Amino acid sequence: MEKQKTLVELQSFGARLDVPVGDRGRCGGAGPSDDKAFLLDGMPAMVPTLGDFAQESPYAVIRSDDGKYSVTSNGRPVMPVEFVSTPKFYDLKTKDGILYKEIAVLHGLDVLATTVSQRCVRWRRDGERCHFCAIENSLDSGATISLKTPDQLAEVAEAAVRLDGIKHMIMTTGTMNYHDMGVKYLINCTLAIKNIVPELGIQVQFEPPENLDDMKLLYEAGVEAVGIHLESFSQDTRERITPGKATISIERYFEAFKKAVGIFGRNQVSTYIIVGFGDSEESIVEGCRQIAELGVYPFVVPLRPLMGTPLENVRPQSQN
Ligand code: SF4
Repeated sequence: MEKQKTLVELQSFGARLDVPVGDRGRCGGAGPSDDKAFLLDGMPAMVPTLGDFAQESPYAVIRSDDGKYSVTSNGRPVMPVEFVSTPKFYDLKTKDGILYKEIAVLHGLDVLATTVSQRCVRWRRDGERCHFCAIENSLDSGATISLKTPDQLAEVAEAAVRLDGIKHMIMTTGTMNYHDMGVKYLINCTLAIKNIVPELGIQVQFEPPENLDDMKLLYEAGVEAVGIHLESFSQDTRERITPGKATISIERYFEAFKKAVGIFGRNQVSTYIIVGFGDSEESIVEGCRQIAELGVYPFVVPLRPLMGTPLENVRPQSQN
């Protein structure tokens, strides 16, 4: 239990890196970000390391005389930690000179992750941006490119499988339009990747498309799992924190969940539920119970206040 508590708290509070451990973390992004892959007693986890709140965390990384790293809590060692070495595919470039790591990055041990479109129609439109999201900030920092083509993604995926043993790929995207939301572009990306590395498991993430039958085309292209992220079971919270996404009702999300489970199967459909917007524990547990009954896997994650977002000064939740 103590170990689980530490794992949860590390992902919520983050950790200070008081010693050099290579890249300190990746900045910006649409999902959890400003983080670094930790191997905590052998278990991979993405731990925030960059935000101000991580600098105030009770957790820190130290290096002992034998060169090994540990996580400490208020100065007391609690767990050994190792860091995933930089993957070999990070050194490569496309023919037009784009670094592969600007197209996709390693998450954890064997997952390749990319944000296919680093632009989002909601992020740019007044009153629609999700308050926790930093998707276009990564473009300002030059860490990535705005749109990855199907061919670029296939090229990087092939190298990541061959050189680094990548087994899964996650493709998320900024919302590309108000109709298919980007699903058709994700289908083209999947077809290109599966054509070169058919064994690579692919999960894609998107808002519910206007025509839910578009999800069948994703399945036929080779997608094994999908993420359709609701973030909160409270419409009031959604209107406050994700005002653009909240124009798609919770009922419509449930329709999309049912349709997706029918296509991809139980537990092949997931949704992020974010703790830290003020929703009660009871409402979160009840909402998760309802979607789990449908066959949807709820990923309950702590709010991670990202730099450069309206929520950057919010402090992370404690476990209690
Ligand atoms: S829909 Fe919201 S969370 Fe998704 S990319 Fe756009 S602003 Fe970010």
